[in-house]
Amino acid sequence: MAKQVATNITWHEGHVEREHRNKLLKQRGATIWFTGLSASGKSTIAFTIEHALVERGHLAYVLDGDNIRHGLNKNLGFSPEDREENIRRIGEVSKLFAEAGLLTLTSFISPYRADRDRARQIHEKAGLAFIEVFVEASVELCEQRDPRGLYAKARAGEIPEFTGISAPYEEPLKPEIVLDTEQLTVVESAQTVLDCLVQRGLLAGG
Ligand code: ADP
Repeated sequence: MAKQVATNITWHEGHVEREHRNKLLKQRGATIWFTGLSASGKSTIAFTIEHALVERGHLAYVLDGDNIRHGLNKNLGFSPEDREENIRRIGEVSKLFAEAGLLTLTSFISPYRADRDRARQIHEKAGLAFIEVFVEASVELCEQRDPRGLYAKARAGEIPEFTGISAPYEEPLKPEIVLDTEQLTVVESAQTVLDCLVQRGLLAGG
């Protein structure tokens, strides 16, 4: 758990209320948190939804695991401590994006329940919607898909601490949405999430 290091710091309250941002953007900032095994379909589905939302005139943005590890989190690996810090930072960044009014889609394996729950807590404490989406597919199916050849490398012992093979994945207990990607097409999964956003009134501002 990250501890507060800096002292002599004061929270500076802004002058713009959340409702004003909602009216401006005609939407409510929220985080849609995708979790699941590598190759379960998180990024494919998240980018499909981002595209659909932008086409409909909404401001949406994907925070993608591999992309973030090229920059903000380039100093982190895959040890349990680094995975925790990876997700802590994404929890904080997605909360800031949601606060700024974006529909933020996060695509991270995020294997530990406690880390995801902390991301949820900071959103809920700030009164921001947090929608956990479990992208479900068996290890066997993910291994068949293996778009980046990672399972093959992990089986060959070339990638230590690989989720589903040599590192744990803790399934969500009460996700808002479960996408069974063994049954649903990418488009059907995307539509399921879009329907949920509409139902929750997140695609209307004011
Ligand atoms: P993740 O982000 O979870 O690691 P990716 O989205 O990068 O997964 O990769 C999932 C792969 O599985 C993609 O190549 C995608 O086209 C493929 N795929 C096949 N069927 C499905 C499905 N029903 N839902 C999502 N992805 C699917």
